[in-house]
Amino acid sequence: MRILVFVLVQAVPGLLGWLWQGWPGAAAGVAGGSVALLALDAWHGRRFMRWLRAPESSPPPALRGLWREAAHRVARALREERERGRESARRLDDFLAAIQASPDGVILLDAEGRIEWCNGMASRHLGIDPRRDLLQHIGNLVRDPAFAAHLAGRDGTAEVALAGRDHTPAQPVRLSVQMHPYGAGHRLMLSRDVTALVQSDAMRRNFVANVSHELRTPLTVLAGFVETMQSLPLAEDERARYLDLMAGQSARMKALIDDLLTLSRLEGSPPPGADQADLPALMAQCEAEARALSNLLHPSAEPAQRLRFAELPGFALTGAAHELRSAISNLVNNAVRYTPAGGAIDVAWQRLPDGGARLSVADTGPGIAPEHLSRLSERFYRVDHSRARASGGTGLGLAIVKHVAQRHGGELQISSVLGHGSCFALALPAQRVRELNAATAP
Ligand code: ADP
Repeated sequence: MRILVFVLVQAVPGLLGWLWQGWPGAAAGVAGGSVALLALDAWHGRRFMRWLRAPESSPPPALRGLWREAAHRVARALREERERGRESARRLDDFLAAIQASPDGVILLDAEGRIEWCNGMASRHLGIDPRRDLLQHIGNLVRDPAFAAHLAGRDGTAEVALAGRDHTPAQPVRLSVQMHPYGAGHRLMLSRDVTALVQSDAMRRNFVANVSHELRTPLTVLAGFVETMQSLPLAEDERARYLDLMAGQSARMKALIDDLLTLSRLEGSPPPGADQADLPALMAQCEAEARALSNLLHPSAEPAQRLRFAELPGFALTGAAHELRSAISNLVNNAVRYTPAGGAIDVAWQRLPDGGARLSVADTGPGIAPEHLSRLSERFYRVDHSRARASGGTGLGLAIVKHVAQRHGGELQISSVLGHGSCFALALPAQRVRELNAATAP
């Protein structure tokens, strides 16, 4: 096509020139045609080059021939390049969004240890500002000797433990930080919040130490009695007294092991279902148990303690009956154990305005100072160790009650006035309460 145009542009003026002036006219016509073609080509070339300076800002100009083809190919190549760029930017965004969503802190360090990028979690963990601190040396921002040694590779460990930015003695935040080399001397720094792990580890160690301590005391006493009985000839009454004391110590160990098993069952079993608990039978059992305990603890006092169980209201409870029984009897037995002879204990169920129900166990015992109240349901926490042990406590009763309450969606509420008495209550949500009419309907 281009050749045809070339031939035509020269042949037509050449022919016209030849007709007009003969051969000199033909030569002038061909030369004129060539010059016009060259001028047109130069004009297209200029427009093309001008467009090429910023091809993304405007569509290709209207050109002819090869120039048009070249402009279209350049435009297509640019379009494809732009699409590829957009695609890889989209992939990079996705990738960064995924790292942002990571529950771990991620920091990219260059070969000098300067921050190239960090995600939100890393900035929360270590107090790094993702914009302001960019290209800052990480060692200037995380000032911890153990971290400095780890960064320099001097400590030879796979990870280092640090205090987090928000760490305070009252609210500890512990981090575990790891470095992974990549690329040309770059490092990927990962930070993980291990506070819960460290705390549960400490709790586990504490728990084992507490259990060992609780078991060692009665065991030591028992071993002492056994040794005495083995080495000394004892009179019959003395022997009987020793055996009584030994029975008391083994009962204490058994109670502790029973409570430990109850707690571990509570932790390991699925949440309580919607079975209906036989509330009258449950309360009758707790009452009988409490009266027997009261008579046992105060055999000579008459009356030992004034125990009042209010009439049952017209509703039923749903949940795990044996768990509810264990919680209620722990509360009632505590009241009996800590209230002196002649004191009063009132046990009553009431409906709550939100449709829930609440069992309150109020006593006129010694009461508890306010600073102890928030810690009472911790395992093995006791206000007065000697008194709690003397009254046969394991230190796990309220921990069991709290666990049962939480498993049923409720809570353990404690109020007390030192010297006047305490009130322990088990509050259950409306989902656990069923109107008796509806419950008994077929
Ligand atoms: P324990 O087996 O030692 O009684 P609990 O977990 O049942 O363990 O109770 C924890 C502590 O709470 C007890 O050691 C006691 O100091 C205090 N406590 C519990 N109930 C009462 C109460 N009714 N009156 C006074 N103090 C109580």
